[in-house]
Amino acid sequence: MMKEQISRSEEVILHTYNRFPVVLDHGEGVWLYDTEGKKYLDFAAGIAVNALGYHYPGYDEGLKAQIDKLTHISNLYYTMPMIQAGEKLLKASGMNRVFFTNSGAEAVEGALKCAKKYAYKRDGHAGHEIIAMRHSFHGRTIGALSVTGNAHYQEPFEPLMGGVRFADFNDLESVRAQVTEKTCAVICETIQGEGGIYPASMEFLKGLRALCDEKDMLLILDEIQCGMGRTGSWFAWQDFGVMPDIMTCAKALGCGVPVGAFVLNERAAAASLEPGDHGTTYGGNPLACAAVSTVFDLFEKDGILDHVKETTPYLEKTLDDLVKKYDCFTARRGMGFMQGLVVKGRPVGEIVSHALAEGLLVISAGTDVLRLVPPLVTGREEIDFMAEILGRIL
Ligand SMILES: *Cc1c(COP(=O)(O)O)cnc(C)c1O
Repeated sequence: MMKEQISRSEEVILHTYNRFPVVLDHGEGVWLYDTEGKKYLDFAAGIAVNALGYHYPGYDEGLKAQIDKLTHISNLYYTMPMIQAGEKLLKASGMNRVFFTNSGAEAVEGALKCAKKYAYKRDGHAGHEIIAMRHSFHGRTIGALSVTGNAHYQEPFEPLMGGVRFADFNDLESVRAQVTEKTCAVICETIQGEGGIYPASMEFLKGLRALCDEKDMLLILDEIQCGMGRTGSWFAWQDFGVMPDIMTCAKALGCGVPVGAFVLNERAAAASLEPGDHGTTYGGNPLACAAVSTVFDLFEKDGILDHVKETTPYLEKTLDDLVKKYDCFTARRGMGFMQGLVVKGRPVGEIVSHALAEGLLVISAGTDVLRLVPPLVTGREEIDFMAEILGRIL
């Protein structure tokens, strides 16, 4: 049955993904089921999106209540879901203004425009530059791709947006070396995700903050993957005590409904985008914002951040034990429920495929990292089960 479904898919859907040979049908808790009824433990969470797993109590109800009222109305009007979602996002971040988008890439686009406009207003002219990191990932649209430090993703689509200079992540001097009088912003992930799960060092992030302040550049932190509770704080930068001028969010922001945001501190909000500068038809529509609002409420009500904080040592110890036990794992990297195991001597894809066959969904990151980004509601028993399956296939 799945075989036939997969060949139907390949007849209609543009082949831009080498998908795993499974057709997923429904989920419950932290488990997924394919169309043949086989069960999988989910340590991928739709790539760090489904932080609450599936059918989390109260989530569907929040969405359904909004569907019964209004799913879309233009940004030409005010709606209560957007007001409420915005208030909650600002409360969690301590930042100043929000713009809701439909995706992560679109949030990055907005952040870049915001930085350019900030410098344009200050200097009275355009032509500014942005510093981005090698091995970063910020999305697939042309602007976001332009700051994604991966030649393989960029090359066919050149020329991209100009005025981007690349530096090395966690190397402050390499960033400093790229600063010119034209630089308006530095963009970086607080924890590099796609690049292979590399957390920023405290020294680097604090150094970036100081450098941006010194040169009046905006610090853009991409929290699309590492934010929304994944590290046990609302946002990973809070673990470092380094507030960005602009942060981008998406992925777990709606826990399954497509929604993103860029969030500005006071400095950026006071002197950047103005009426007419930016817009979106769908962005922040009532359904998406009801999801955001529901997610914040459930995280608070059920102490999701505390659960992540409490469970992280157990997850880390379990993964460290795997590194000790199996030669093919050489190291663990990560924070909270965003972890990577460095794989040596065999393709990561092979482990991912074997895990799938054994009923465990995991994904890769970079060229040699097994990425574990489970739902934030995952418990110890499921962590044990993950380790058991990985042990079995190794
Ligand atoms: C996934 C991701 C993006 C892109 O988000 P989309 O919703 O796929 O456009 C950008 N930045 C980071 C860090 C991501 O992990």
